Amino acid sequence: MIPQQFIDEVQSRTDIAEVIASYLPLKKAGRNFKGLCPFHGEKTPSFIVSPQKQIFHCFGCGEGGGVFQFITLIEKISFPEAVELLAKRLGLDIPYQQDKNAKTKTALYEAMSVATLFFHNNLKNDKKLQGVRDYLAERGVGPETIKKFQLGYAPGNNGLMSYMRTKSFTLEILEKCSLITSRGGGFCDVFRNRITFPILDIRSRVVGFGARIHTKDTQAPKYINSLENVLYSKRNHLYGLYLAKDEISNQQTAIVVEGYLDMITPFMRGISNVVASLGTALTEEQIRLIKRYAQRVVMVYDSDKAGQNATLRSLDLLLEQGLEVEIMQLPSGSDPDSFFRNKDRADFLTFLKQARDFFDYKVDVLSNIYDKDSIDGKTKIAKEMLETIDKLPSQIKKYEYIRKLAGALSVKEEIMIAEFQKKSPVNNTRRNKFSAPGGNQSAGLNKNELLPVTEKVIFKFLLTNPKTFPLVKKNLKQEYFSSPISRKAISLFLNNSIEAGVSGPKFLGTINDKEISSFISKILIDDDIPMDKNTFKESLLKLKKKGIIQFKSELREKIRDAEAKGDTKKVKILITEFEKVNSREVKNG
Ligand SMILES: [Zn+2]
Repeated sequence: MIPQQFIDEVQSRTDIAEVIASYLPLKKAGRNFKGLCPFHGEKTPSFIVSPQKQIFHCFGCGEGGGVFQFITLIEKISFPEAVELLAKRLGLDIPYQQDKNAKTKTALYEAMSVATLFFHNNLKNDKKLQGVRDYLAERGVGPETIKKFQLGYAPGNNGLMSYMRTKSFTLEILEKCSLITSRGGGFCDVFRNRITFPILDIRSRVVGFGARIHTKDTQAPKYINSLENVLYSKRNHLYGLYLAKDEISNQQTAIVVEGYLDMITPFMRGISNVVASLGTALTEEQIRLIKRYAQRVVMVYDSDKAGQNATLRSLDLLLEQGLEVEIMQLPSGSDPDSFFRNKDRADFLTFLKQARDFFDYKVDVLSNIYDKDSIDGKTKIAKEMLETIDKLPSQIKKYEYIRKLAGALSVKEEIMIAEFQKKSPVNNTRRNKFSAPGGNQSAGLNKNELLPVTEKVIFKFLLTNPKTFPLVKKNLKQEYFSSPISRKAISLFLNNSIEAGVSGPKFLGTINDKEISSFISKILIDDDIPMDKNTFKESLLKLKKKGIIQFKSELREKIRDAEAKGDTKKVKILITEFEKVNSREVKNG
């Protein structure tokens, strides 16, 4: 943990214009600077830096924030790492709050690293393990690969535990990083007689292991993995990302595979933008990790039923997060590892070029399950396809794919659109109304454009005039705001997670959320937002009034819903809530 006070100090001693100018040419434009945005390709500058406000904002792609946000984006590092980097520039040492937890964590990393080396040296040097080395070599895993991925071998007879004890690691530490486990009153090694694959995090620290069997034992599972522990949780890691991240960023594409060797083999054969999910479907956390480096994902899972299901599930999540998705299909029966037994990089790239768009892939899969020519089959395919299309964040894309689906199923376009609209009427009340292009909803880029002026005024005052904080807190509720992003931003203020009454740049120094920082910077840079006290008061009242009306109608809807379901308990609670709102309205007039 870096103390907030220190973050504030780094912030106040850093000039954003100077920092940004060291990355790209900036030209003076009035009180601001202008430049070509480094985060999206552009020929006319729409990237603005304000030295007064200590913020940047790009009107082209919407990125924005304070100096820390700029560094996280341009260096592709985390928020604390950005603080570190800027502190270094200033020649400051970071006063880490070394609590007990941090110390334990350091000890755990240390244990993992020593264990990795122990396993690795076994595999490399132990004469008795020639059979294992031969086994690996037959599968194309030679000394070079063993070294690059620090592969190792876990012996039996609690060899690891004895070794670690001689290095003075306590049993408590070893158990905490799930290297040993309690059994029958004592402890034993978790990994026994298996080939080990260390799992490294993005900062190249070992956080866990996978271990593969190499005998023909059909009883034992082929792979076992570290249990979830303080350092390792499966859903937060992508195997190989620490090696592949640069190339993923260069190519703006991540190839996602299933298993350890599916990642290792292509990587060693010159496909360097590949990572493994190490589980069935991708998790949301893994997708967010990918998103730091690339906009496009190519999935290469096994072609069996399990692989297909995992692909379909991941697809929806990826689309939901705004990533482009393609699916690469290898010859049936082969996976990315076995593919290279008799083929090379060029062959792989040929298959990669033939990767298919999510739409074509899914229609194909569904057409194999349902009869595309029967009415029943068409209905089922349409239903499942519309679920996926609904995940697309862009209205324009939704419309395009609905048209495409209508074509693919030989159904009239209007009917398909009607089908889509009736799909989820309940949660579509306000958030997600579908409108064809030409409607007033844009494709997500200019979220603030749609923000009512009243809300803009409230945010601008909160950020520039800390004295308004108590007034806002007293009168407004999160639910009164119109969009998910403004609700998220205001709740940061209201829920006290932000110190009452901080100014804009300081506020940006406390948040670690790209969406919010871009939202805030856009408001701060906008000099057209009226800044007189009367407008503020009017906005406050207007928003409150509108908010209460809207909140009440939402409550009414919920009450109707609960009544229809016969949930009398819920109805009671909702009515009490409704009355509370009513009295609040009367009291404050
Ligand atoms: Zn931009």
